[in-house]
Order: sequence, then structure tokens, then C-alpha cells
Amino acid sequence: MSDDILISAAGLSVGYKIGKGIFQHSILKAVDNVSIHIKRGSFFGLVGESGSGKTTLGRALLNAVPITGGNATYDDGDVNYDLTALSKDELGDYRRRAQLIFQDPYAALSPRMTVRDIIAEPLEVMKITSSRQETDERVREIAARCRLNLEHLRRFPHAFSGGQRQRISIARALVSRPQFIVADEAVAALDVSIQADVLNLLKQLQGEMDLTFMFISHDLSVVAHTCDHVAVMYLGRLVETAPTRQLFAAPKHPYTKALFSAIPSLNPDDRGRAQRLEGEIPSPTNQPSGCKFHTRCPHVIDRCRSEEPQLETADGAHEVACHRWQELLKVG
Ligand code: ADP
Ligand code: MG
Repeated sequence: MSDDILISAAGLSVGYKIGKGIFQHSILKAVDNVSIHIKRGSFFGLVGESGSGKTTLGRALLNAVPITGGNATYDDGDVNYDLTALSKDELGDYRRRAQLIFQDPYAALSPRMTVRDIIAEPLEVMKITSSRQETDERVREIAARCRLNLEHLRRFPHAFSGGQRQRISIARALVSRPQFIVADEAVAALDVSIQADVLNLLKQLQGEMDLTFMFISHDLSVVAHTCDHVAVMYLGRLVETAPTRQLFAAPKHPYTKALFSAIPSLNPDDRGRAQRLEGEIPSPTNQPSGCKFHTRCPHVIDRCRSEEPQLETADGAHEVACHRWQELLKVG
């Protein structure tokens, strides 16, 4: 594997056991046969509608839900882990190296703890620091980096705005000096004006602390200015993946195009013939045959109903899983 890849997944699947009684062994495939490579130091975007499996994929890469199929490895140049077979010690170490930033800054912070204690908790739980003084130094250092006023460390989270709370969550995620961050809808709960501040902060921290991000969002417009590379997910599958500029210049999968047309400002030359995304994402417990998107695709043909398209190279690092992507280049 090329030595600039931090996370590599091949055929990764995650199934949840669901159902009661005689159905209790049914499996809901939330992530199905996903292969991705996340470069060190990159901002990797994962987009798709709610229910497409983004959170599950992010959590699987953090080893927070069990991987039920395929392979995933982590290699930061210092350690190299098989994420499907971590020993207890490795898992403890990986918890420090790979962290999650939550979506909801209101729910994520314990109301009874001071900001200092909230940020310090991972250091204490993972026994990273050996004295209160060392912990305090680490907390102050990361709080300053996250543009939190040091005066605020003594206060409780209710005293803060949404943007400030998200900065507290970010400080808490970064205090263990991780390499890999999964930011799951990290700005979705914030006002648009605050979103840009938080995104800028994440980008700045990425550079300063040499971080690699998996940035999860249902909103393509957020991904546009933040991510180097974007993967589009639908019903547990990757349907398209490309460097951001390439994806935005020439989306190829009908699903990606539909996501774009939901945001006219991103796609000025397509305004007149926008394809609206009709209907809802099907339930993963009752998946369509063939191409998972065929039930909503305006370009569906018989082949799409029976044969599942695999990701294929369209142009350099641009990959798409659609039987008709080449034909559709002519139709627009
Ligand atoms: P997204 O983050 O894209 O909205 P999720 O990964 O949260 O998608 O969910 C993917 C699918 O897995 C959804 O159908 C969801 O209902 C299901 N799911 C998520 N978590 C669980 C769970 N713990 N048990 C059973 N099903 C789950
Ligand atoms: Mg989610």
C-alpha cells in the first residue's frame, strides 16, 4: 500500500442484527462492500442522504461498530493496524489516535461538567497525562488552538452559543492529539453564518496539527469548500468518488447529479434542466435488486434492475458505479 494512505478499506461491510422473535437473525446491511483510501493529511468528504450509511462507515473506521465483512487498515507511519483484528492494547491506542466529532453540540456535552473537565476527560480516561498540571497544560493548549477563551474553562456548557459549544467538542476530540478525525455532520446543527467559522477552524487545525479528516455531511455545498476528495454514498454503497474539483465540474452518477441539482447555486449551468430527486431512499432491509438507485433514477433501463454496477474508473481518480455513465455524458 502506498505510504501516504492513512485509512484503507476493501469490501468493507457492516450489518446490524435486527428484528424480534423468529426474525431476530435478520441483518440490516448499513454499509455494503465499500472500498476507500483516505490519504494522510487530506479532508475526505462523505456525502449522501440520511440513511445512506455514512455514520456507520465513519464509526466502523473508528472501531466503534463491529466490521462484519471485508478489510480495513490504519497506517500513520508510526503504527500500522488491522482494524478488523485489534488487540486490546492496540484498541486502547487506536482510541487515542482516532477520534469523533459529534453532530450536535447541545447533546454532546455534559451539562454538569465545566468546560475544563469536559476537555480533560479523554486525557484522564485514556491515562494520557500523569499529573493534574500536565492535564491542565494540555487543556489550555488545545483550548487556545480552538479559539476558546481560557476564562471560559471554568464555566459550564449552557453558557455558550452553538458555535462555541462545537469548538469545545472539537477541543475535546483533539486533546489526545489524534491523527484521524471523523467529523460527523459537525456543522449541521449550526447557523449558516457559524458553519463557515467552524469549517475554517477545522481546516486550520488540520494544517497545524497534521490531521486527516473524514468529513461526513448530507450537504454537498458544505463539502465543496472543505474537502479534497468526495465519496458519494447511497444505501450502503459508494456510487461515485472523485477529487472534489473533478466531482463538482463533472458529476457522473445520476444520484450525484440529483444531489447537485438540489443546490442550484452550485450548478449554475444546469439550472434549467435540474433533475429533482423523487421519492425516498429505500429501507436497507428491503433493498432494490440491481442498482440500488434504480427505483429513483430517471435513466433506468432493464439492465439496472437486474445487474448491480461496480465502481469503475471514469477519469483518473474519478470512479463511478453506473451502467450508463458514458451514454449519459451525451445526454447531460
Ligand atoms: P446516515 O449516517 O447516512 O444517515 P446511518 O449509518 O446512520 O446512515 O444508518 C444507515 C442505516 O442503518 C439506516 O437504515 C439506519 O436506520 C440503520 N442503523 C443505524 N444504526 C443502527 C443500529 N444501531 N441498529 C440497527 N440499524 C441501524
Ligand atoms: Mg448520520
